[in-house]
Amino acid sequence: MAHDYDILIIGGGNAGFAVSKTAHEAGKRVAFVEERDFGGTCPNRGCTPKKVLVAAAHALDEIERASVHGIEVATPRVQWSRLIERARNMVAFVPDAMESVARKRGDVFRGHATFIDAHTVNVDGRVLRAAHIVIATGSRPRPLAIPGAEYLTTSEDVLGDPVFPDEVIFIGGGVIALEFAHVLQRVGSRVRILEAMPRLLPRQDAEAVGELQAETGRIGVAIETDVKVVRIEPSEGRLRVHYEVGGKAYSRLADRVVNGTGRIANVGDLDLEAAGIEHDGVRVLVDEYLRSTSQPHIWVAGDALAHTAQLSPLATYEGAIVGHNILHGPVKQPDYTATPSVVHTVPALASVGLTQEQASSRGLAVRVVRNDMTSWFSGKSYGETTAFAKVLIDEHTDHIRGAHLVGHRGEELIHLFALAIAREITATELANTHFAFPTFSSDVRNLL
Ligand SMILES: Cc1cc2nc3c(=O)[nH]c(=O)nc-3n(C[C@H](O)[C@H](O)[C@H](O)COP(=O)(O)OP(=O)(O)OC[C@H]3O[C@@H](n4cnc5c(N)ncnc54)[C@H](O)[C@@H]3O)c2cc1C
Repeated sequence: MAHDYDILIIGGGNAGFAVSKTAHEAGKRVAFVEERDFGGTCPNRGCTPKKVLVAAAHALDEIERASVHGIEVATPRVQWSRLIERARNMVAFVPDAMESVARKRGDVFRGHATFIDAHTVNVDGRVLRAAHIVIATGSRPRPLAIPGAEYLTTSEDVLGDPVFPDEVIFIGGGVIALEFAHVLQRVGSRVRILEAMPRLLPRQDAEAVGELQAETGRIGVAIETDVKVVRIEPSEGRLRVHYEVGGKAYSRLADRVVNGTGRIANVGDLDLEAAGIEHDGVRVLVDEYLRSTSQPHIWVAGDALAHTAQLSPLATYEGAIVGHNILHGPVKQPDYTATPSVVHTVPALASVGLTQEQASSRGLAVRVVRNDMTSWFSGKSYGETTAFAKVLIDEHTDHIRGAHLVGHRGEELIHLFALAIAREITATELANTHFAFPTFSSDVRNLL
């Protein structure tokens, strides 16, 4: 049977847009299906509005440290509803703007897509056939199987709620939970994180996480690890969380209980079976070219992949790879060696490359250079309370294998390390580069 389209893309976020760009430039017939807002999670209810809140937390952090400069300030008061409105206003234009980009690249269908067979998709009654289909459906909060899970809210609710919560409990201490915890605590909430694992952020370098955890405690966030959450129930007009630590029972009241356990691939309601798409109940199984292992004309990119880091630039990168592979055959494989990531707490935790644990499990001989920069001129000038750096340098080749920074503008500095890793610039070459002084970047020479 003839196909209506060369490429049908399910999902109008970063990943879907990257595919559509490549496909459109090559003159392919593209269908674009989106059930909600074009632009997807990052600009509408993720990275961008969250960063507006994080920017406010930075301002509060500066105010907190004003006294080190001899500046007296009154206790700041944040009008939360204005902050939420600011975040909303900043991105209000995105869905329409992105939809008009989508319309330039192909036919747009609004609605929920499900598979009918391996080449056919149903969009709310409309039947579309395509030679290639891309699953770019993003992620959704991990469901929690505990009594009272229906009372949980999500990061999206936090971003949309103009009523400021006095007390908040995050169940799970993932990246998004930590970022929102820092914002809410600095604005004035009392925040508690209940984490099931022995430590937060298990994929990140343990020492760097320890630094961030200490700073998170210093600003007043309560963190409990090895926690088993038992149930959530309404109580006294608020919510009560019952949990256990080391077999001992506890319960705490909060205005909001937020699911901070991370996000899973949003592929559960696509009817993958109808198309014979192999999956493991959580995610679609793909090969190294991002093709379905059972249906090689069906591709997956972005958060929907789930086994790669859920980051907006990666969704774009993977989408571009899928677009390229559709056009030229399976030739490109993603390479995540030099992908930087930032936990946007205040201060941020920024990292790239291997953690020390990963380097040692791979048997790599690395020189570990650790520094506390709080006593350096740069750290002292700005009254930094945390300024930690750990850089892993290959003992044989002098290449940088990993960098992990907490504070000290690490969210910007990390890109120097990412560039060095990506372009194989040695630690000696980076240290011999000229940097303007005094800047945070100029400290990089002393971190190697
Ligand atoms: C609160 C929060 C903060 C974040 N902060 C950052 C950050 O600071 N930096 C960073 O790099 N990343 C961040 N992320 C992650 C980032 O947003 C994602 O990695 C990125 O948006 C993934 O893009 P995507 O295209 O894969 O999916 P999405 O952008 O989620 O797009 C998927 C689209 O598919 C649509 N869709 C789903 N199912 C169907 C269907 N069956 N039919 C039709 N349409 C469908 C959805 O409506 C959605 O628009 C954050 C995420 C969240 C939630």
